[in-house]
Amino acid sequence: HLSKRLQAVAALVPSVPKLVDIGSDHAYLPAYLLQRQVIQTAIAGEVRQGPLANAQREITKLGLEAVMQARLGDGLTVLAPDEQVDVIVIAGMGGELITEILTRGQAQLRQHPVLVLQPNVDENVLRRWLQANHYQITAEQLVEDAGHFYEMLRAEFLPNPPALTKTELEFGPYLVRERSAIFRHKWQERLHKSELILRRLQASRKQPVAKMAAMQARITAIQEVLNDKG
Ligand code: SAM
Repeated sequence: HLSKRLQAVAALVPSVPKLVDIGSDHAYLPAYLLQRQVIQTAIAGEVRQGPLANAQREITKLGLEAVMQARLGDGLTVLAPDEQVDVIVIAGMGGELITEILTRGQAQLRQHPVLVLQPNVDENVLRRWLQANHYQITAEQLVEDAGHFYEMLRAEFLPNPPALTKTELEFGPYLVRERSAIFRHKWQERLHKSELILRRLQASRKQPVAKMAAMQARITAIQEVLNDKG
């Protein structure tokens, strides 16, 4: 019963001994990966009691007590300072919040775990953070699930990852190269929205110049990506 979105996230997780899923809620993702033996052990981290209880219920229901722990805490603080994990998953939150959790958890990144991330919005913010923190995106996926577009990615530590272009940071290095039907669909929708916003700005009495210029630049960038037949 894993959603299409979480299935796509799961597909990016490498086979490893230990995974932590931050903001796990029902712990569906680690449970799925444990049952398929993609991973051997998991920690489900949650900052709120309700979702933590959901995770605990799922662990009990599936009899995964020996291989999964649900822990209450903010972000990566659920890990002990010297605790090693192979993969960190953070899914179903905004890109800003994901980068905040990673920034606050820098100590846990010292062992360079693989990151599997699924931002609901602000994907570009996350890609900029990865670039600045020596993480190279090694896989990306875009799915449409229940009328929403979701991006998910895997990133691995590399001392000097190749710099991404502005276009790659904005649209995703793999996604923009592949330019799938879903990708075009997503960005056609975004283009349409941006054009509406620009028209509204142009019609307003204030005519905020900087905002209009930013929106026009965004529209041009999207048009270029959509028109580039590659
Ligand atoms: N990861 C699951 C998924 O992708 O389906 C659940 C996503 S749910 C929309 C977001 C969860 O993140 C909520 O349960 C929330 O309590 C949790 N969360 C938000 N901020 C967090 C933080 N700083 N540390 C841990 N969990 C957090």
